[in-house]
Amino acid sequence: MPTIREPSREIPVIAEADVVVCGGGPGGFPAAIAAARHGSRTVLIERHGYLGGLATAGLVAPILAHTASESHTPIVEGLLKEITTRLHALGGAPAWEDALQEWGIRFDAEALKHTLDEMCAEAGVQVMFHTQIAAVATEGDAIQAVIIETKSGRQAVAGKVFIDATGDADIAHRAGAPTTHGRAFDGRGESMGSFFHLGGLPELAEERAREITELIEHEMEDGRFAFYNPHFLGKNTEHQDHTSANMTRFSGDSDNAADMTRGEAYVRKNVWELVRYLRANVPEFADVYVQQTSPQIGPRESRQIVGPYALSGDDVHLGLKFEDGIARGSWWIDIHCPLGNTYPVHLCTVECPQGADCPYWAAENERMRSKAELYPPKGDWYDIPYRALLSIKTPNLLASGRCISATHEGMAGARVMGTCIAIGQAAGTAAALAIQAGVLVGELDVQALRETLRADGQLV
Ligand SMILES: Cc1cc2nc3c(=O)[nH]c(=O)nc-3n(C[C@H](O)[C@H](O)[C@H](O)COP(=O)(O)OP(=O)(O)OC[C@H]3O[C@@H](n4cnc5c(N)ncnc54)[C@H](O)[C@@H]3O)c2cc1C
Repeated sequence: MPTIREPSREIPVIAEADVVVCGGGPGGFPAAIAAARHGSRTVLIERHGYLGGLATAGLVAPILAHTASESHTPIVEGLLKEITTRLHALGGAPAWEDALQEWGIRFDAEALKHTLDEMCAEAGVQVMFHTQIAAVATEGDAIQAVIIETKSGRQAVAGKVFIDATGDADIAHRAGAPTTHGRAFDGRGESMGSFFHLGGLPELAEERAREITELIEHEMEDGRFAFYNPHFLGKNTEHQDHTSANMTRFSGDSDNAADMTRGEAYVRKNVWELVRYLRANVPEFADVYVQQTSPQIGPRESRQIVGPYALSGDDVHLGLKFEDGIARGSWWIDIHCPLGNTYPVHLCTVECPQGADCPYWAAENERMRSKAELYPPKGDWYDIPYRALLSIKTPNLLASGRCISATHEGMAGARVMGTCIAIGQAAGTAAALAIQAGVLVGELDVQALRETLRADGQLV
């Protein structure tokens, strides 16, 4: 590939913060709010024009893992409960007590955008939208500043502690900290996917809705559609005048722009194939339309930092607790086929119908889990240890959300939004406490962190 030399230049440092949170998704926004509430000058940098990450840009819903495994007992409260309560006041989520009775917290993405704007403003977070973090400046192993690219040009934001909540561990990677990528076998992460909303829906009796879903499933068996499930009538959001479907699948790397480009067009094509089919073949759906596809395709797993501890599949399945537990998770080892195979393939387990046709299954089947070994014990949860947020190399870096240190199996449980929000609250609080104490994040008194999180309403 030909190359050109980019000339070096002086760039302005437009902010000097205590805590710089990189990425405004479920791992990032709680980190910024928590750090600012604990007195840190906090900057939150986000490439989109709103906060929420995949909760808004991916239309992903509902927020999972707010309760213990297969139970209604809360395991995450703190900022998640506060956000849900504020969303409820806007008509954008059920009341907290009602949400505990459901498998996830349904919410309206537009209400979430507004709620997060308000909460960041109230906490004094300096939010920078439309700001892409392009590079990292280091001094020895430590991060000195992140280099941003915006319509205003190339600039820098300096800080004391940096929180990598980019989902893809962009900051760790660019700072030269070790990272992993997907499963050890071939580096592939779980497949990506995209939510879409359909409007123009008729009122359907339950039996007719089932019939039509079965029709789509039948067409999937015949190879007409590349979906992994037929549930296009799903309604996971607070508003019931449109569907919210999670059926698409694309195998690629979210840290590769060419893959992301292909993925966007591919999932849109799949959605329109379904809509054309429904209009032509199901009389009740003659007027169905695509209300929206998610603004970006959703990555489930890509780069993650290497920390002193990596959350594992056994930790998830056995519901392990740690002395340095700073968040709780209950989602299970939910691995969407990394090769992007669709119906009848869903999860990467030893029962996968691909069997030996899949190179991973052929090589690893003796070590693969069965479906019965994916879940934490009923009514239980696992802890996320603080060590999984630390980098083994970069002393002023914390990871949050889906780029913490975890194995492929561990991340398949920890990546859901309820857990990411709990991790984010812990990361932001830890950054602020470390700065107050004048210590590195790796030297923080973790029991003091846990006490602070409890005082802030978190369950640890
Ligand atoms: C198809 C699909 C279905 C899912 N279903 C569910 C579900 O039903 N329930 C659930 O709870 N979870 C679900 N998840 C998982 C969940 O959405 C994610 O794991 C979660 O959003 C991760 O949060 P995060 O903050 O770590 O990353 P993200 O949500 O990806 O947020 C990262 C943020 O960082 C920003 N960013 C990234 N790089 C840069 C950069 N270089 N400069 C500036 N900004 C940057 C991004 O714009 C984004 O806002 C699903 C995921 C997918 C893909």
